[in-house]
Amino acid sequence: MTATEEAHSLLSQIPNLTVLTGAPLSRYTRFAIGGPADVYAETTSVEAFIAALSATRASGIDTMVIGGGTNLIVSDEGFRGIVLRFRGDRLYAANHRIIADAGAVLQDLVDFSIAHGLQGLETLAGIPGSVGAAVYGNAGAYGHSISERIVNVCFYDGHTTRTFDNQDCEFHYRESIFKRHKDWIIFSTKLRLDPGDAATLRKTADDILKVRNEKFPVTMKCAGSIFKNLLYAELPPAVAAEVPSTAVREGKVPAAWFLEQVGAKGTQRGDIHVATYHANLIYNAGTGTAADLKAVIADLKSRVRTRFAIELEEEVQYVG
Ligand SMILES: Cc1cc2nc3c(=O)[nH]c(=O)nc-3n(C[C@H](O)[C@H](O)[C@H](O)COP(=O)(O)OP(=O)(O)OC[C@H]3O[C@@H](n4cnc5c(N)ncnc54)[C@H](O)[C@@H]3O)c2cc1C
Repeated sequence: MTATEEAHSLLSQIPNLTVLTGAPLSRYTRFAIGGPADVYAETTSVEAFIAALSATRASGIDTMVIGGGTNLIVSDEGFRGIVLRFRGDRLYAANHRIIADAGAVLQDLVDFSIAHGLQGLETLAGIPGSVGAAVYGNAGAYGHSISERIVNVCFYDGHTTRTFDNQDCEFHYRESIFKRHKDWIIFSTKLRLDPGDAATLRKTADDILKVRNEKFPVTMKCAGSIFKNLLYAELPPAVAAEVPSTAVREGKVPAAWFLEQVGAKGTQRGDIHVATYHANLIYNAGTGTAADLKAVIADLKSRVRTRFAIELEEEVQYVG
């Protein structure tokens, strides 16, 4: 029996776990790119998830956790190991606090908070993906990040379930301690919100959704922005001097500004395109491959490195 067959057989014995072999990961990524995972397993049960993780780790097989797959680039060869997804999606509200399971859709959390007249998450409207990954990557938009509202995060560290307060999570721009401990699995988070007027909050969220849907049509196979924006204060002085003040927003220079200076818009390789209206948006126009996508990303990084001697950093996560 191969290690994969053994893992499949072990996982199949765990109640409340759905197990698939050779599942194409292109089905689970918004880019619609990615070869098969040896084994794919998902569950809404914390106990089943921990049992699956323990079984696979004990057999020495690589594991990888995904959420909604909206920020992933999976290689054309797929993933040799087991891809796990936690789909628990309960949301509770009490005393201006919400507890959200990691598998909940972030937009459902935003809508839930608004329906309860709670202010603080409405600017996250339209960010695709799950609550767990939003915590992992400290997702945000319109000058706010989810970390501003997080009281604590409950996660599994491979041995036991732990709870970290906000400060322990070491949140920064699109960063958290979870990005440096990829084996830690987030199960839920508690958020503190303020009372607000539901109709006003709904309008704010709907206005944002309208703008976002124009920029990122819901059917577009992409990951939103490929590269992180850059903190103006951290740029080398000679580079900072070249950036017009109108390009600086909330202390950051959009990666798109640098990409525009090197003619990134409209770049194409196979079915992988850089949008003509947004230099930091790469999409799969049909049957694009991870190889072409990675080549375009490398090309854009190299152009910016040559012109500005700075390194763009991917916001997307690689698998396989
Ligand atoms: C059109 C579009 C627009 C976007 N706009 C924005 C934006 O404005 N702001 C922004 O911040 N992001 C944006 N993104 C990026 C993306 O939506 C976020 O990064 C989102 O949080 C990813 O969620 P996901 O569930 O799809 O995660 P995935 O892509 O599946 O995974 C991302 C990472 O999270 C990890 N992860 C997932 N679940 C867990 C868990 N339970 N525990 C530990 N680690 C976990 C995975 O291992 C992986 O490394 C956009 C993406 C798209 C497609």
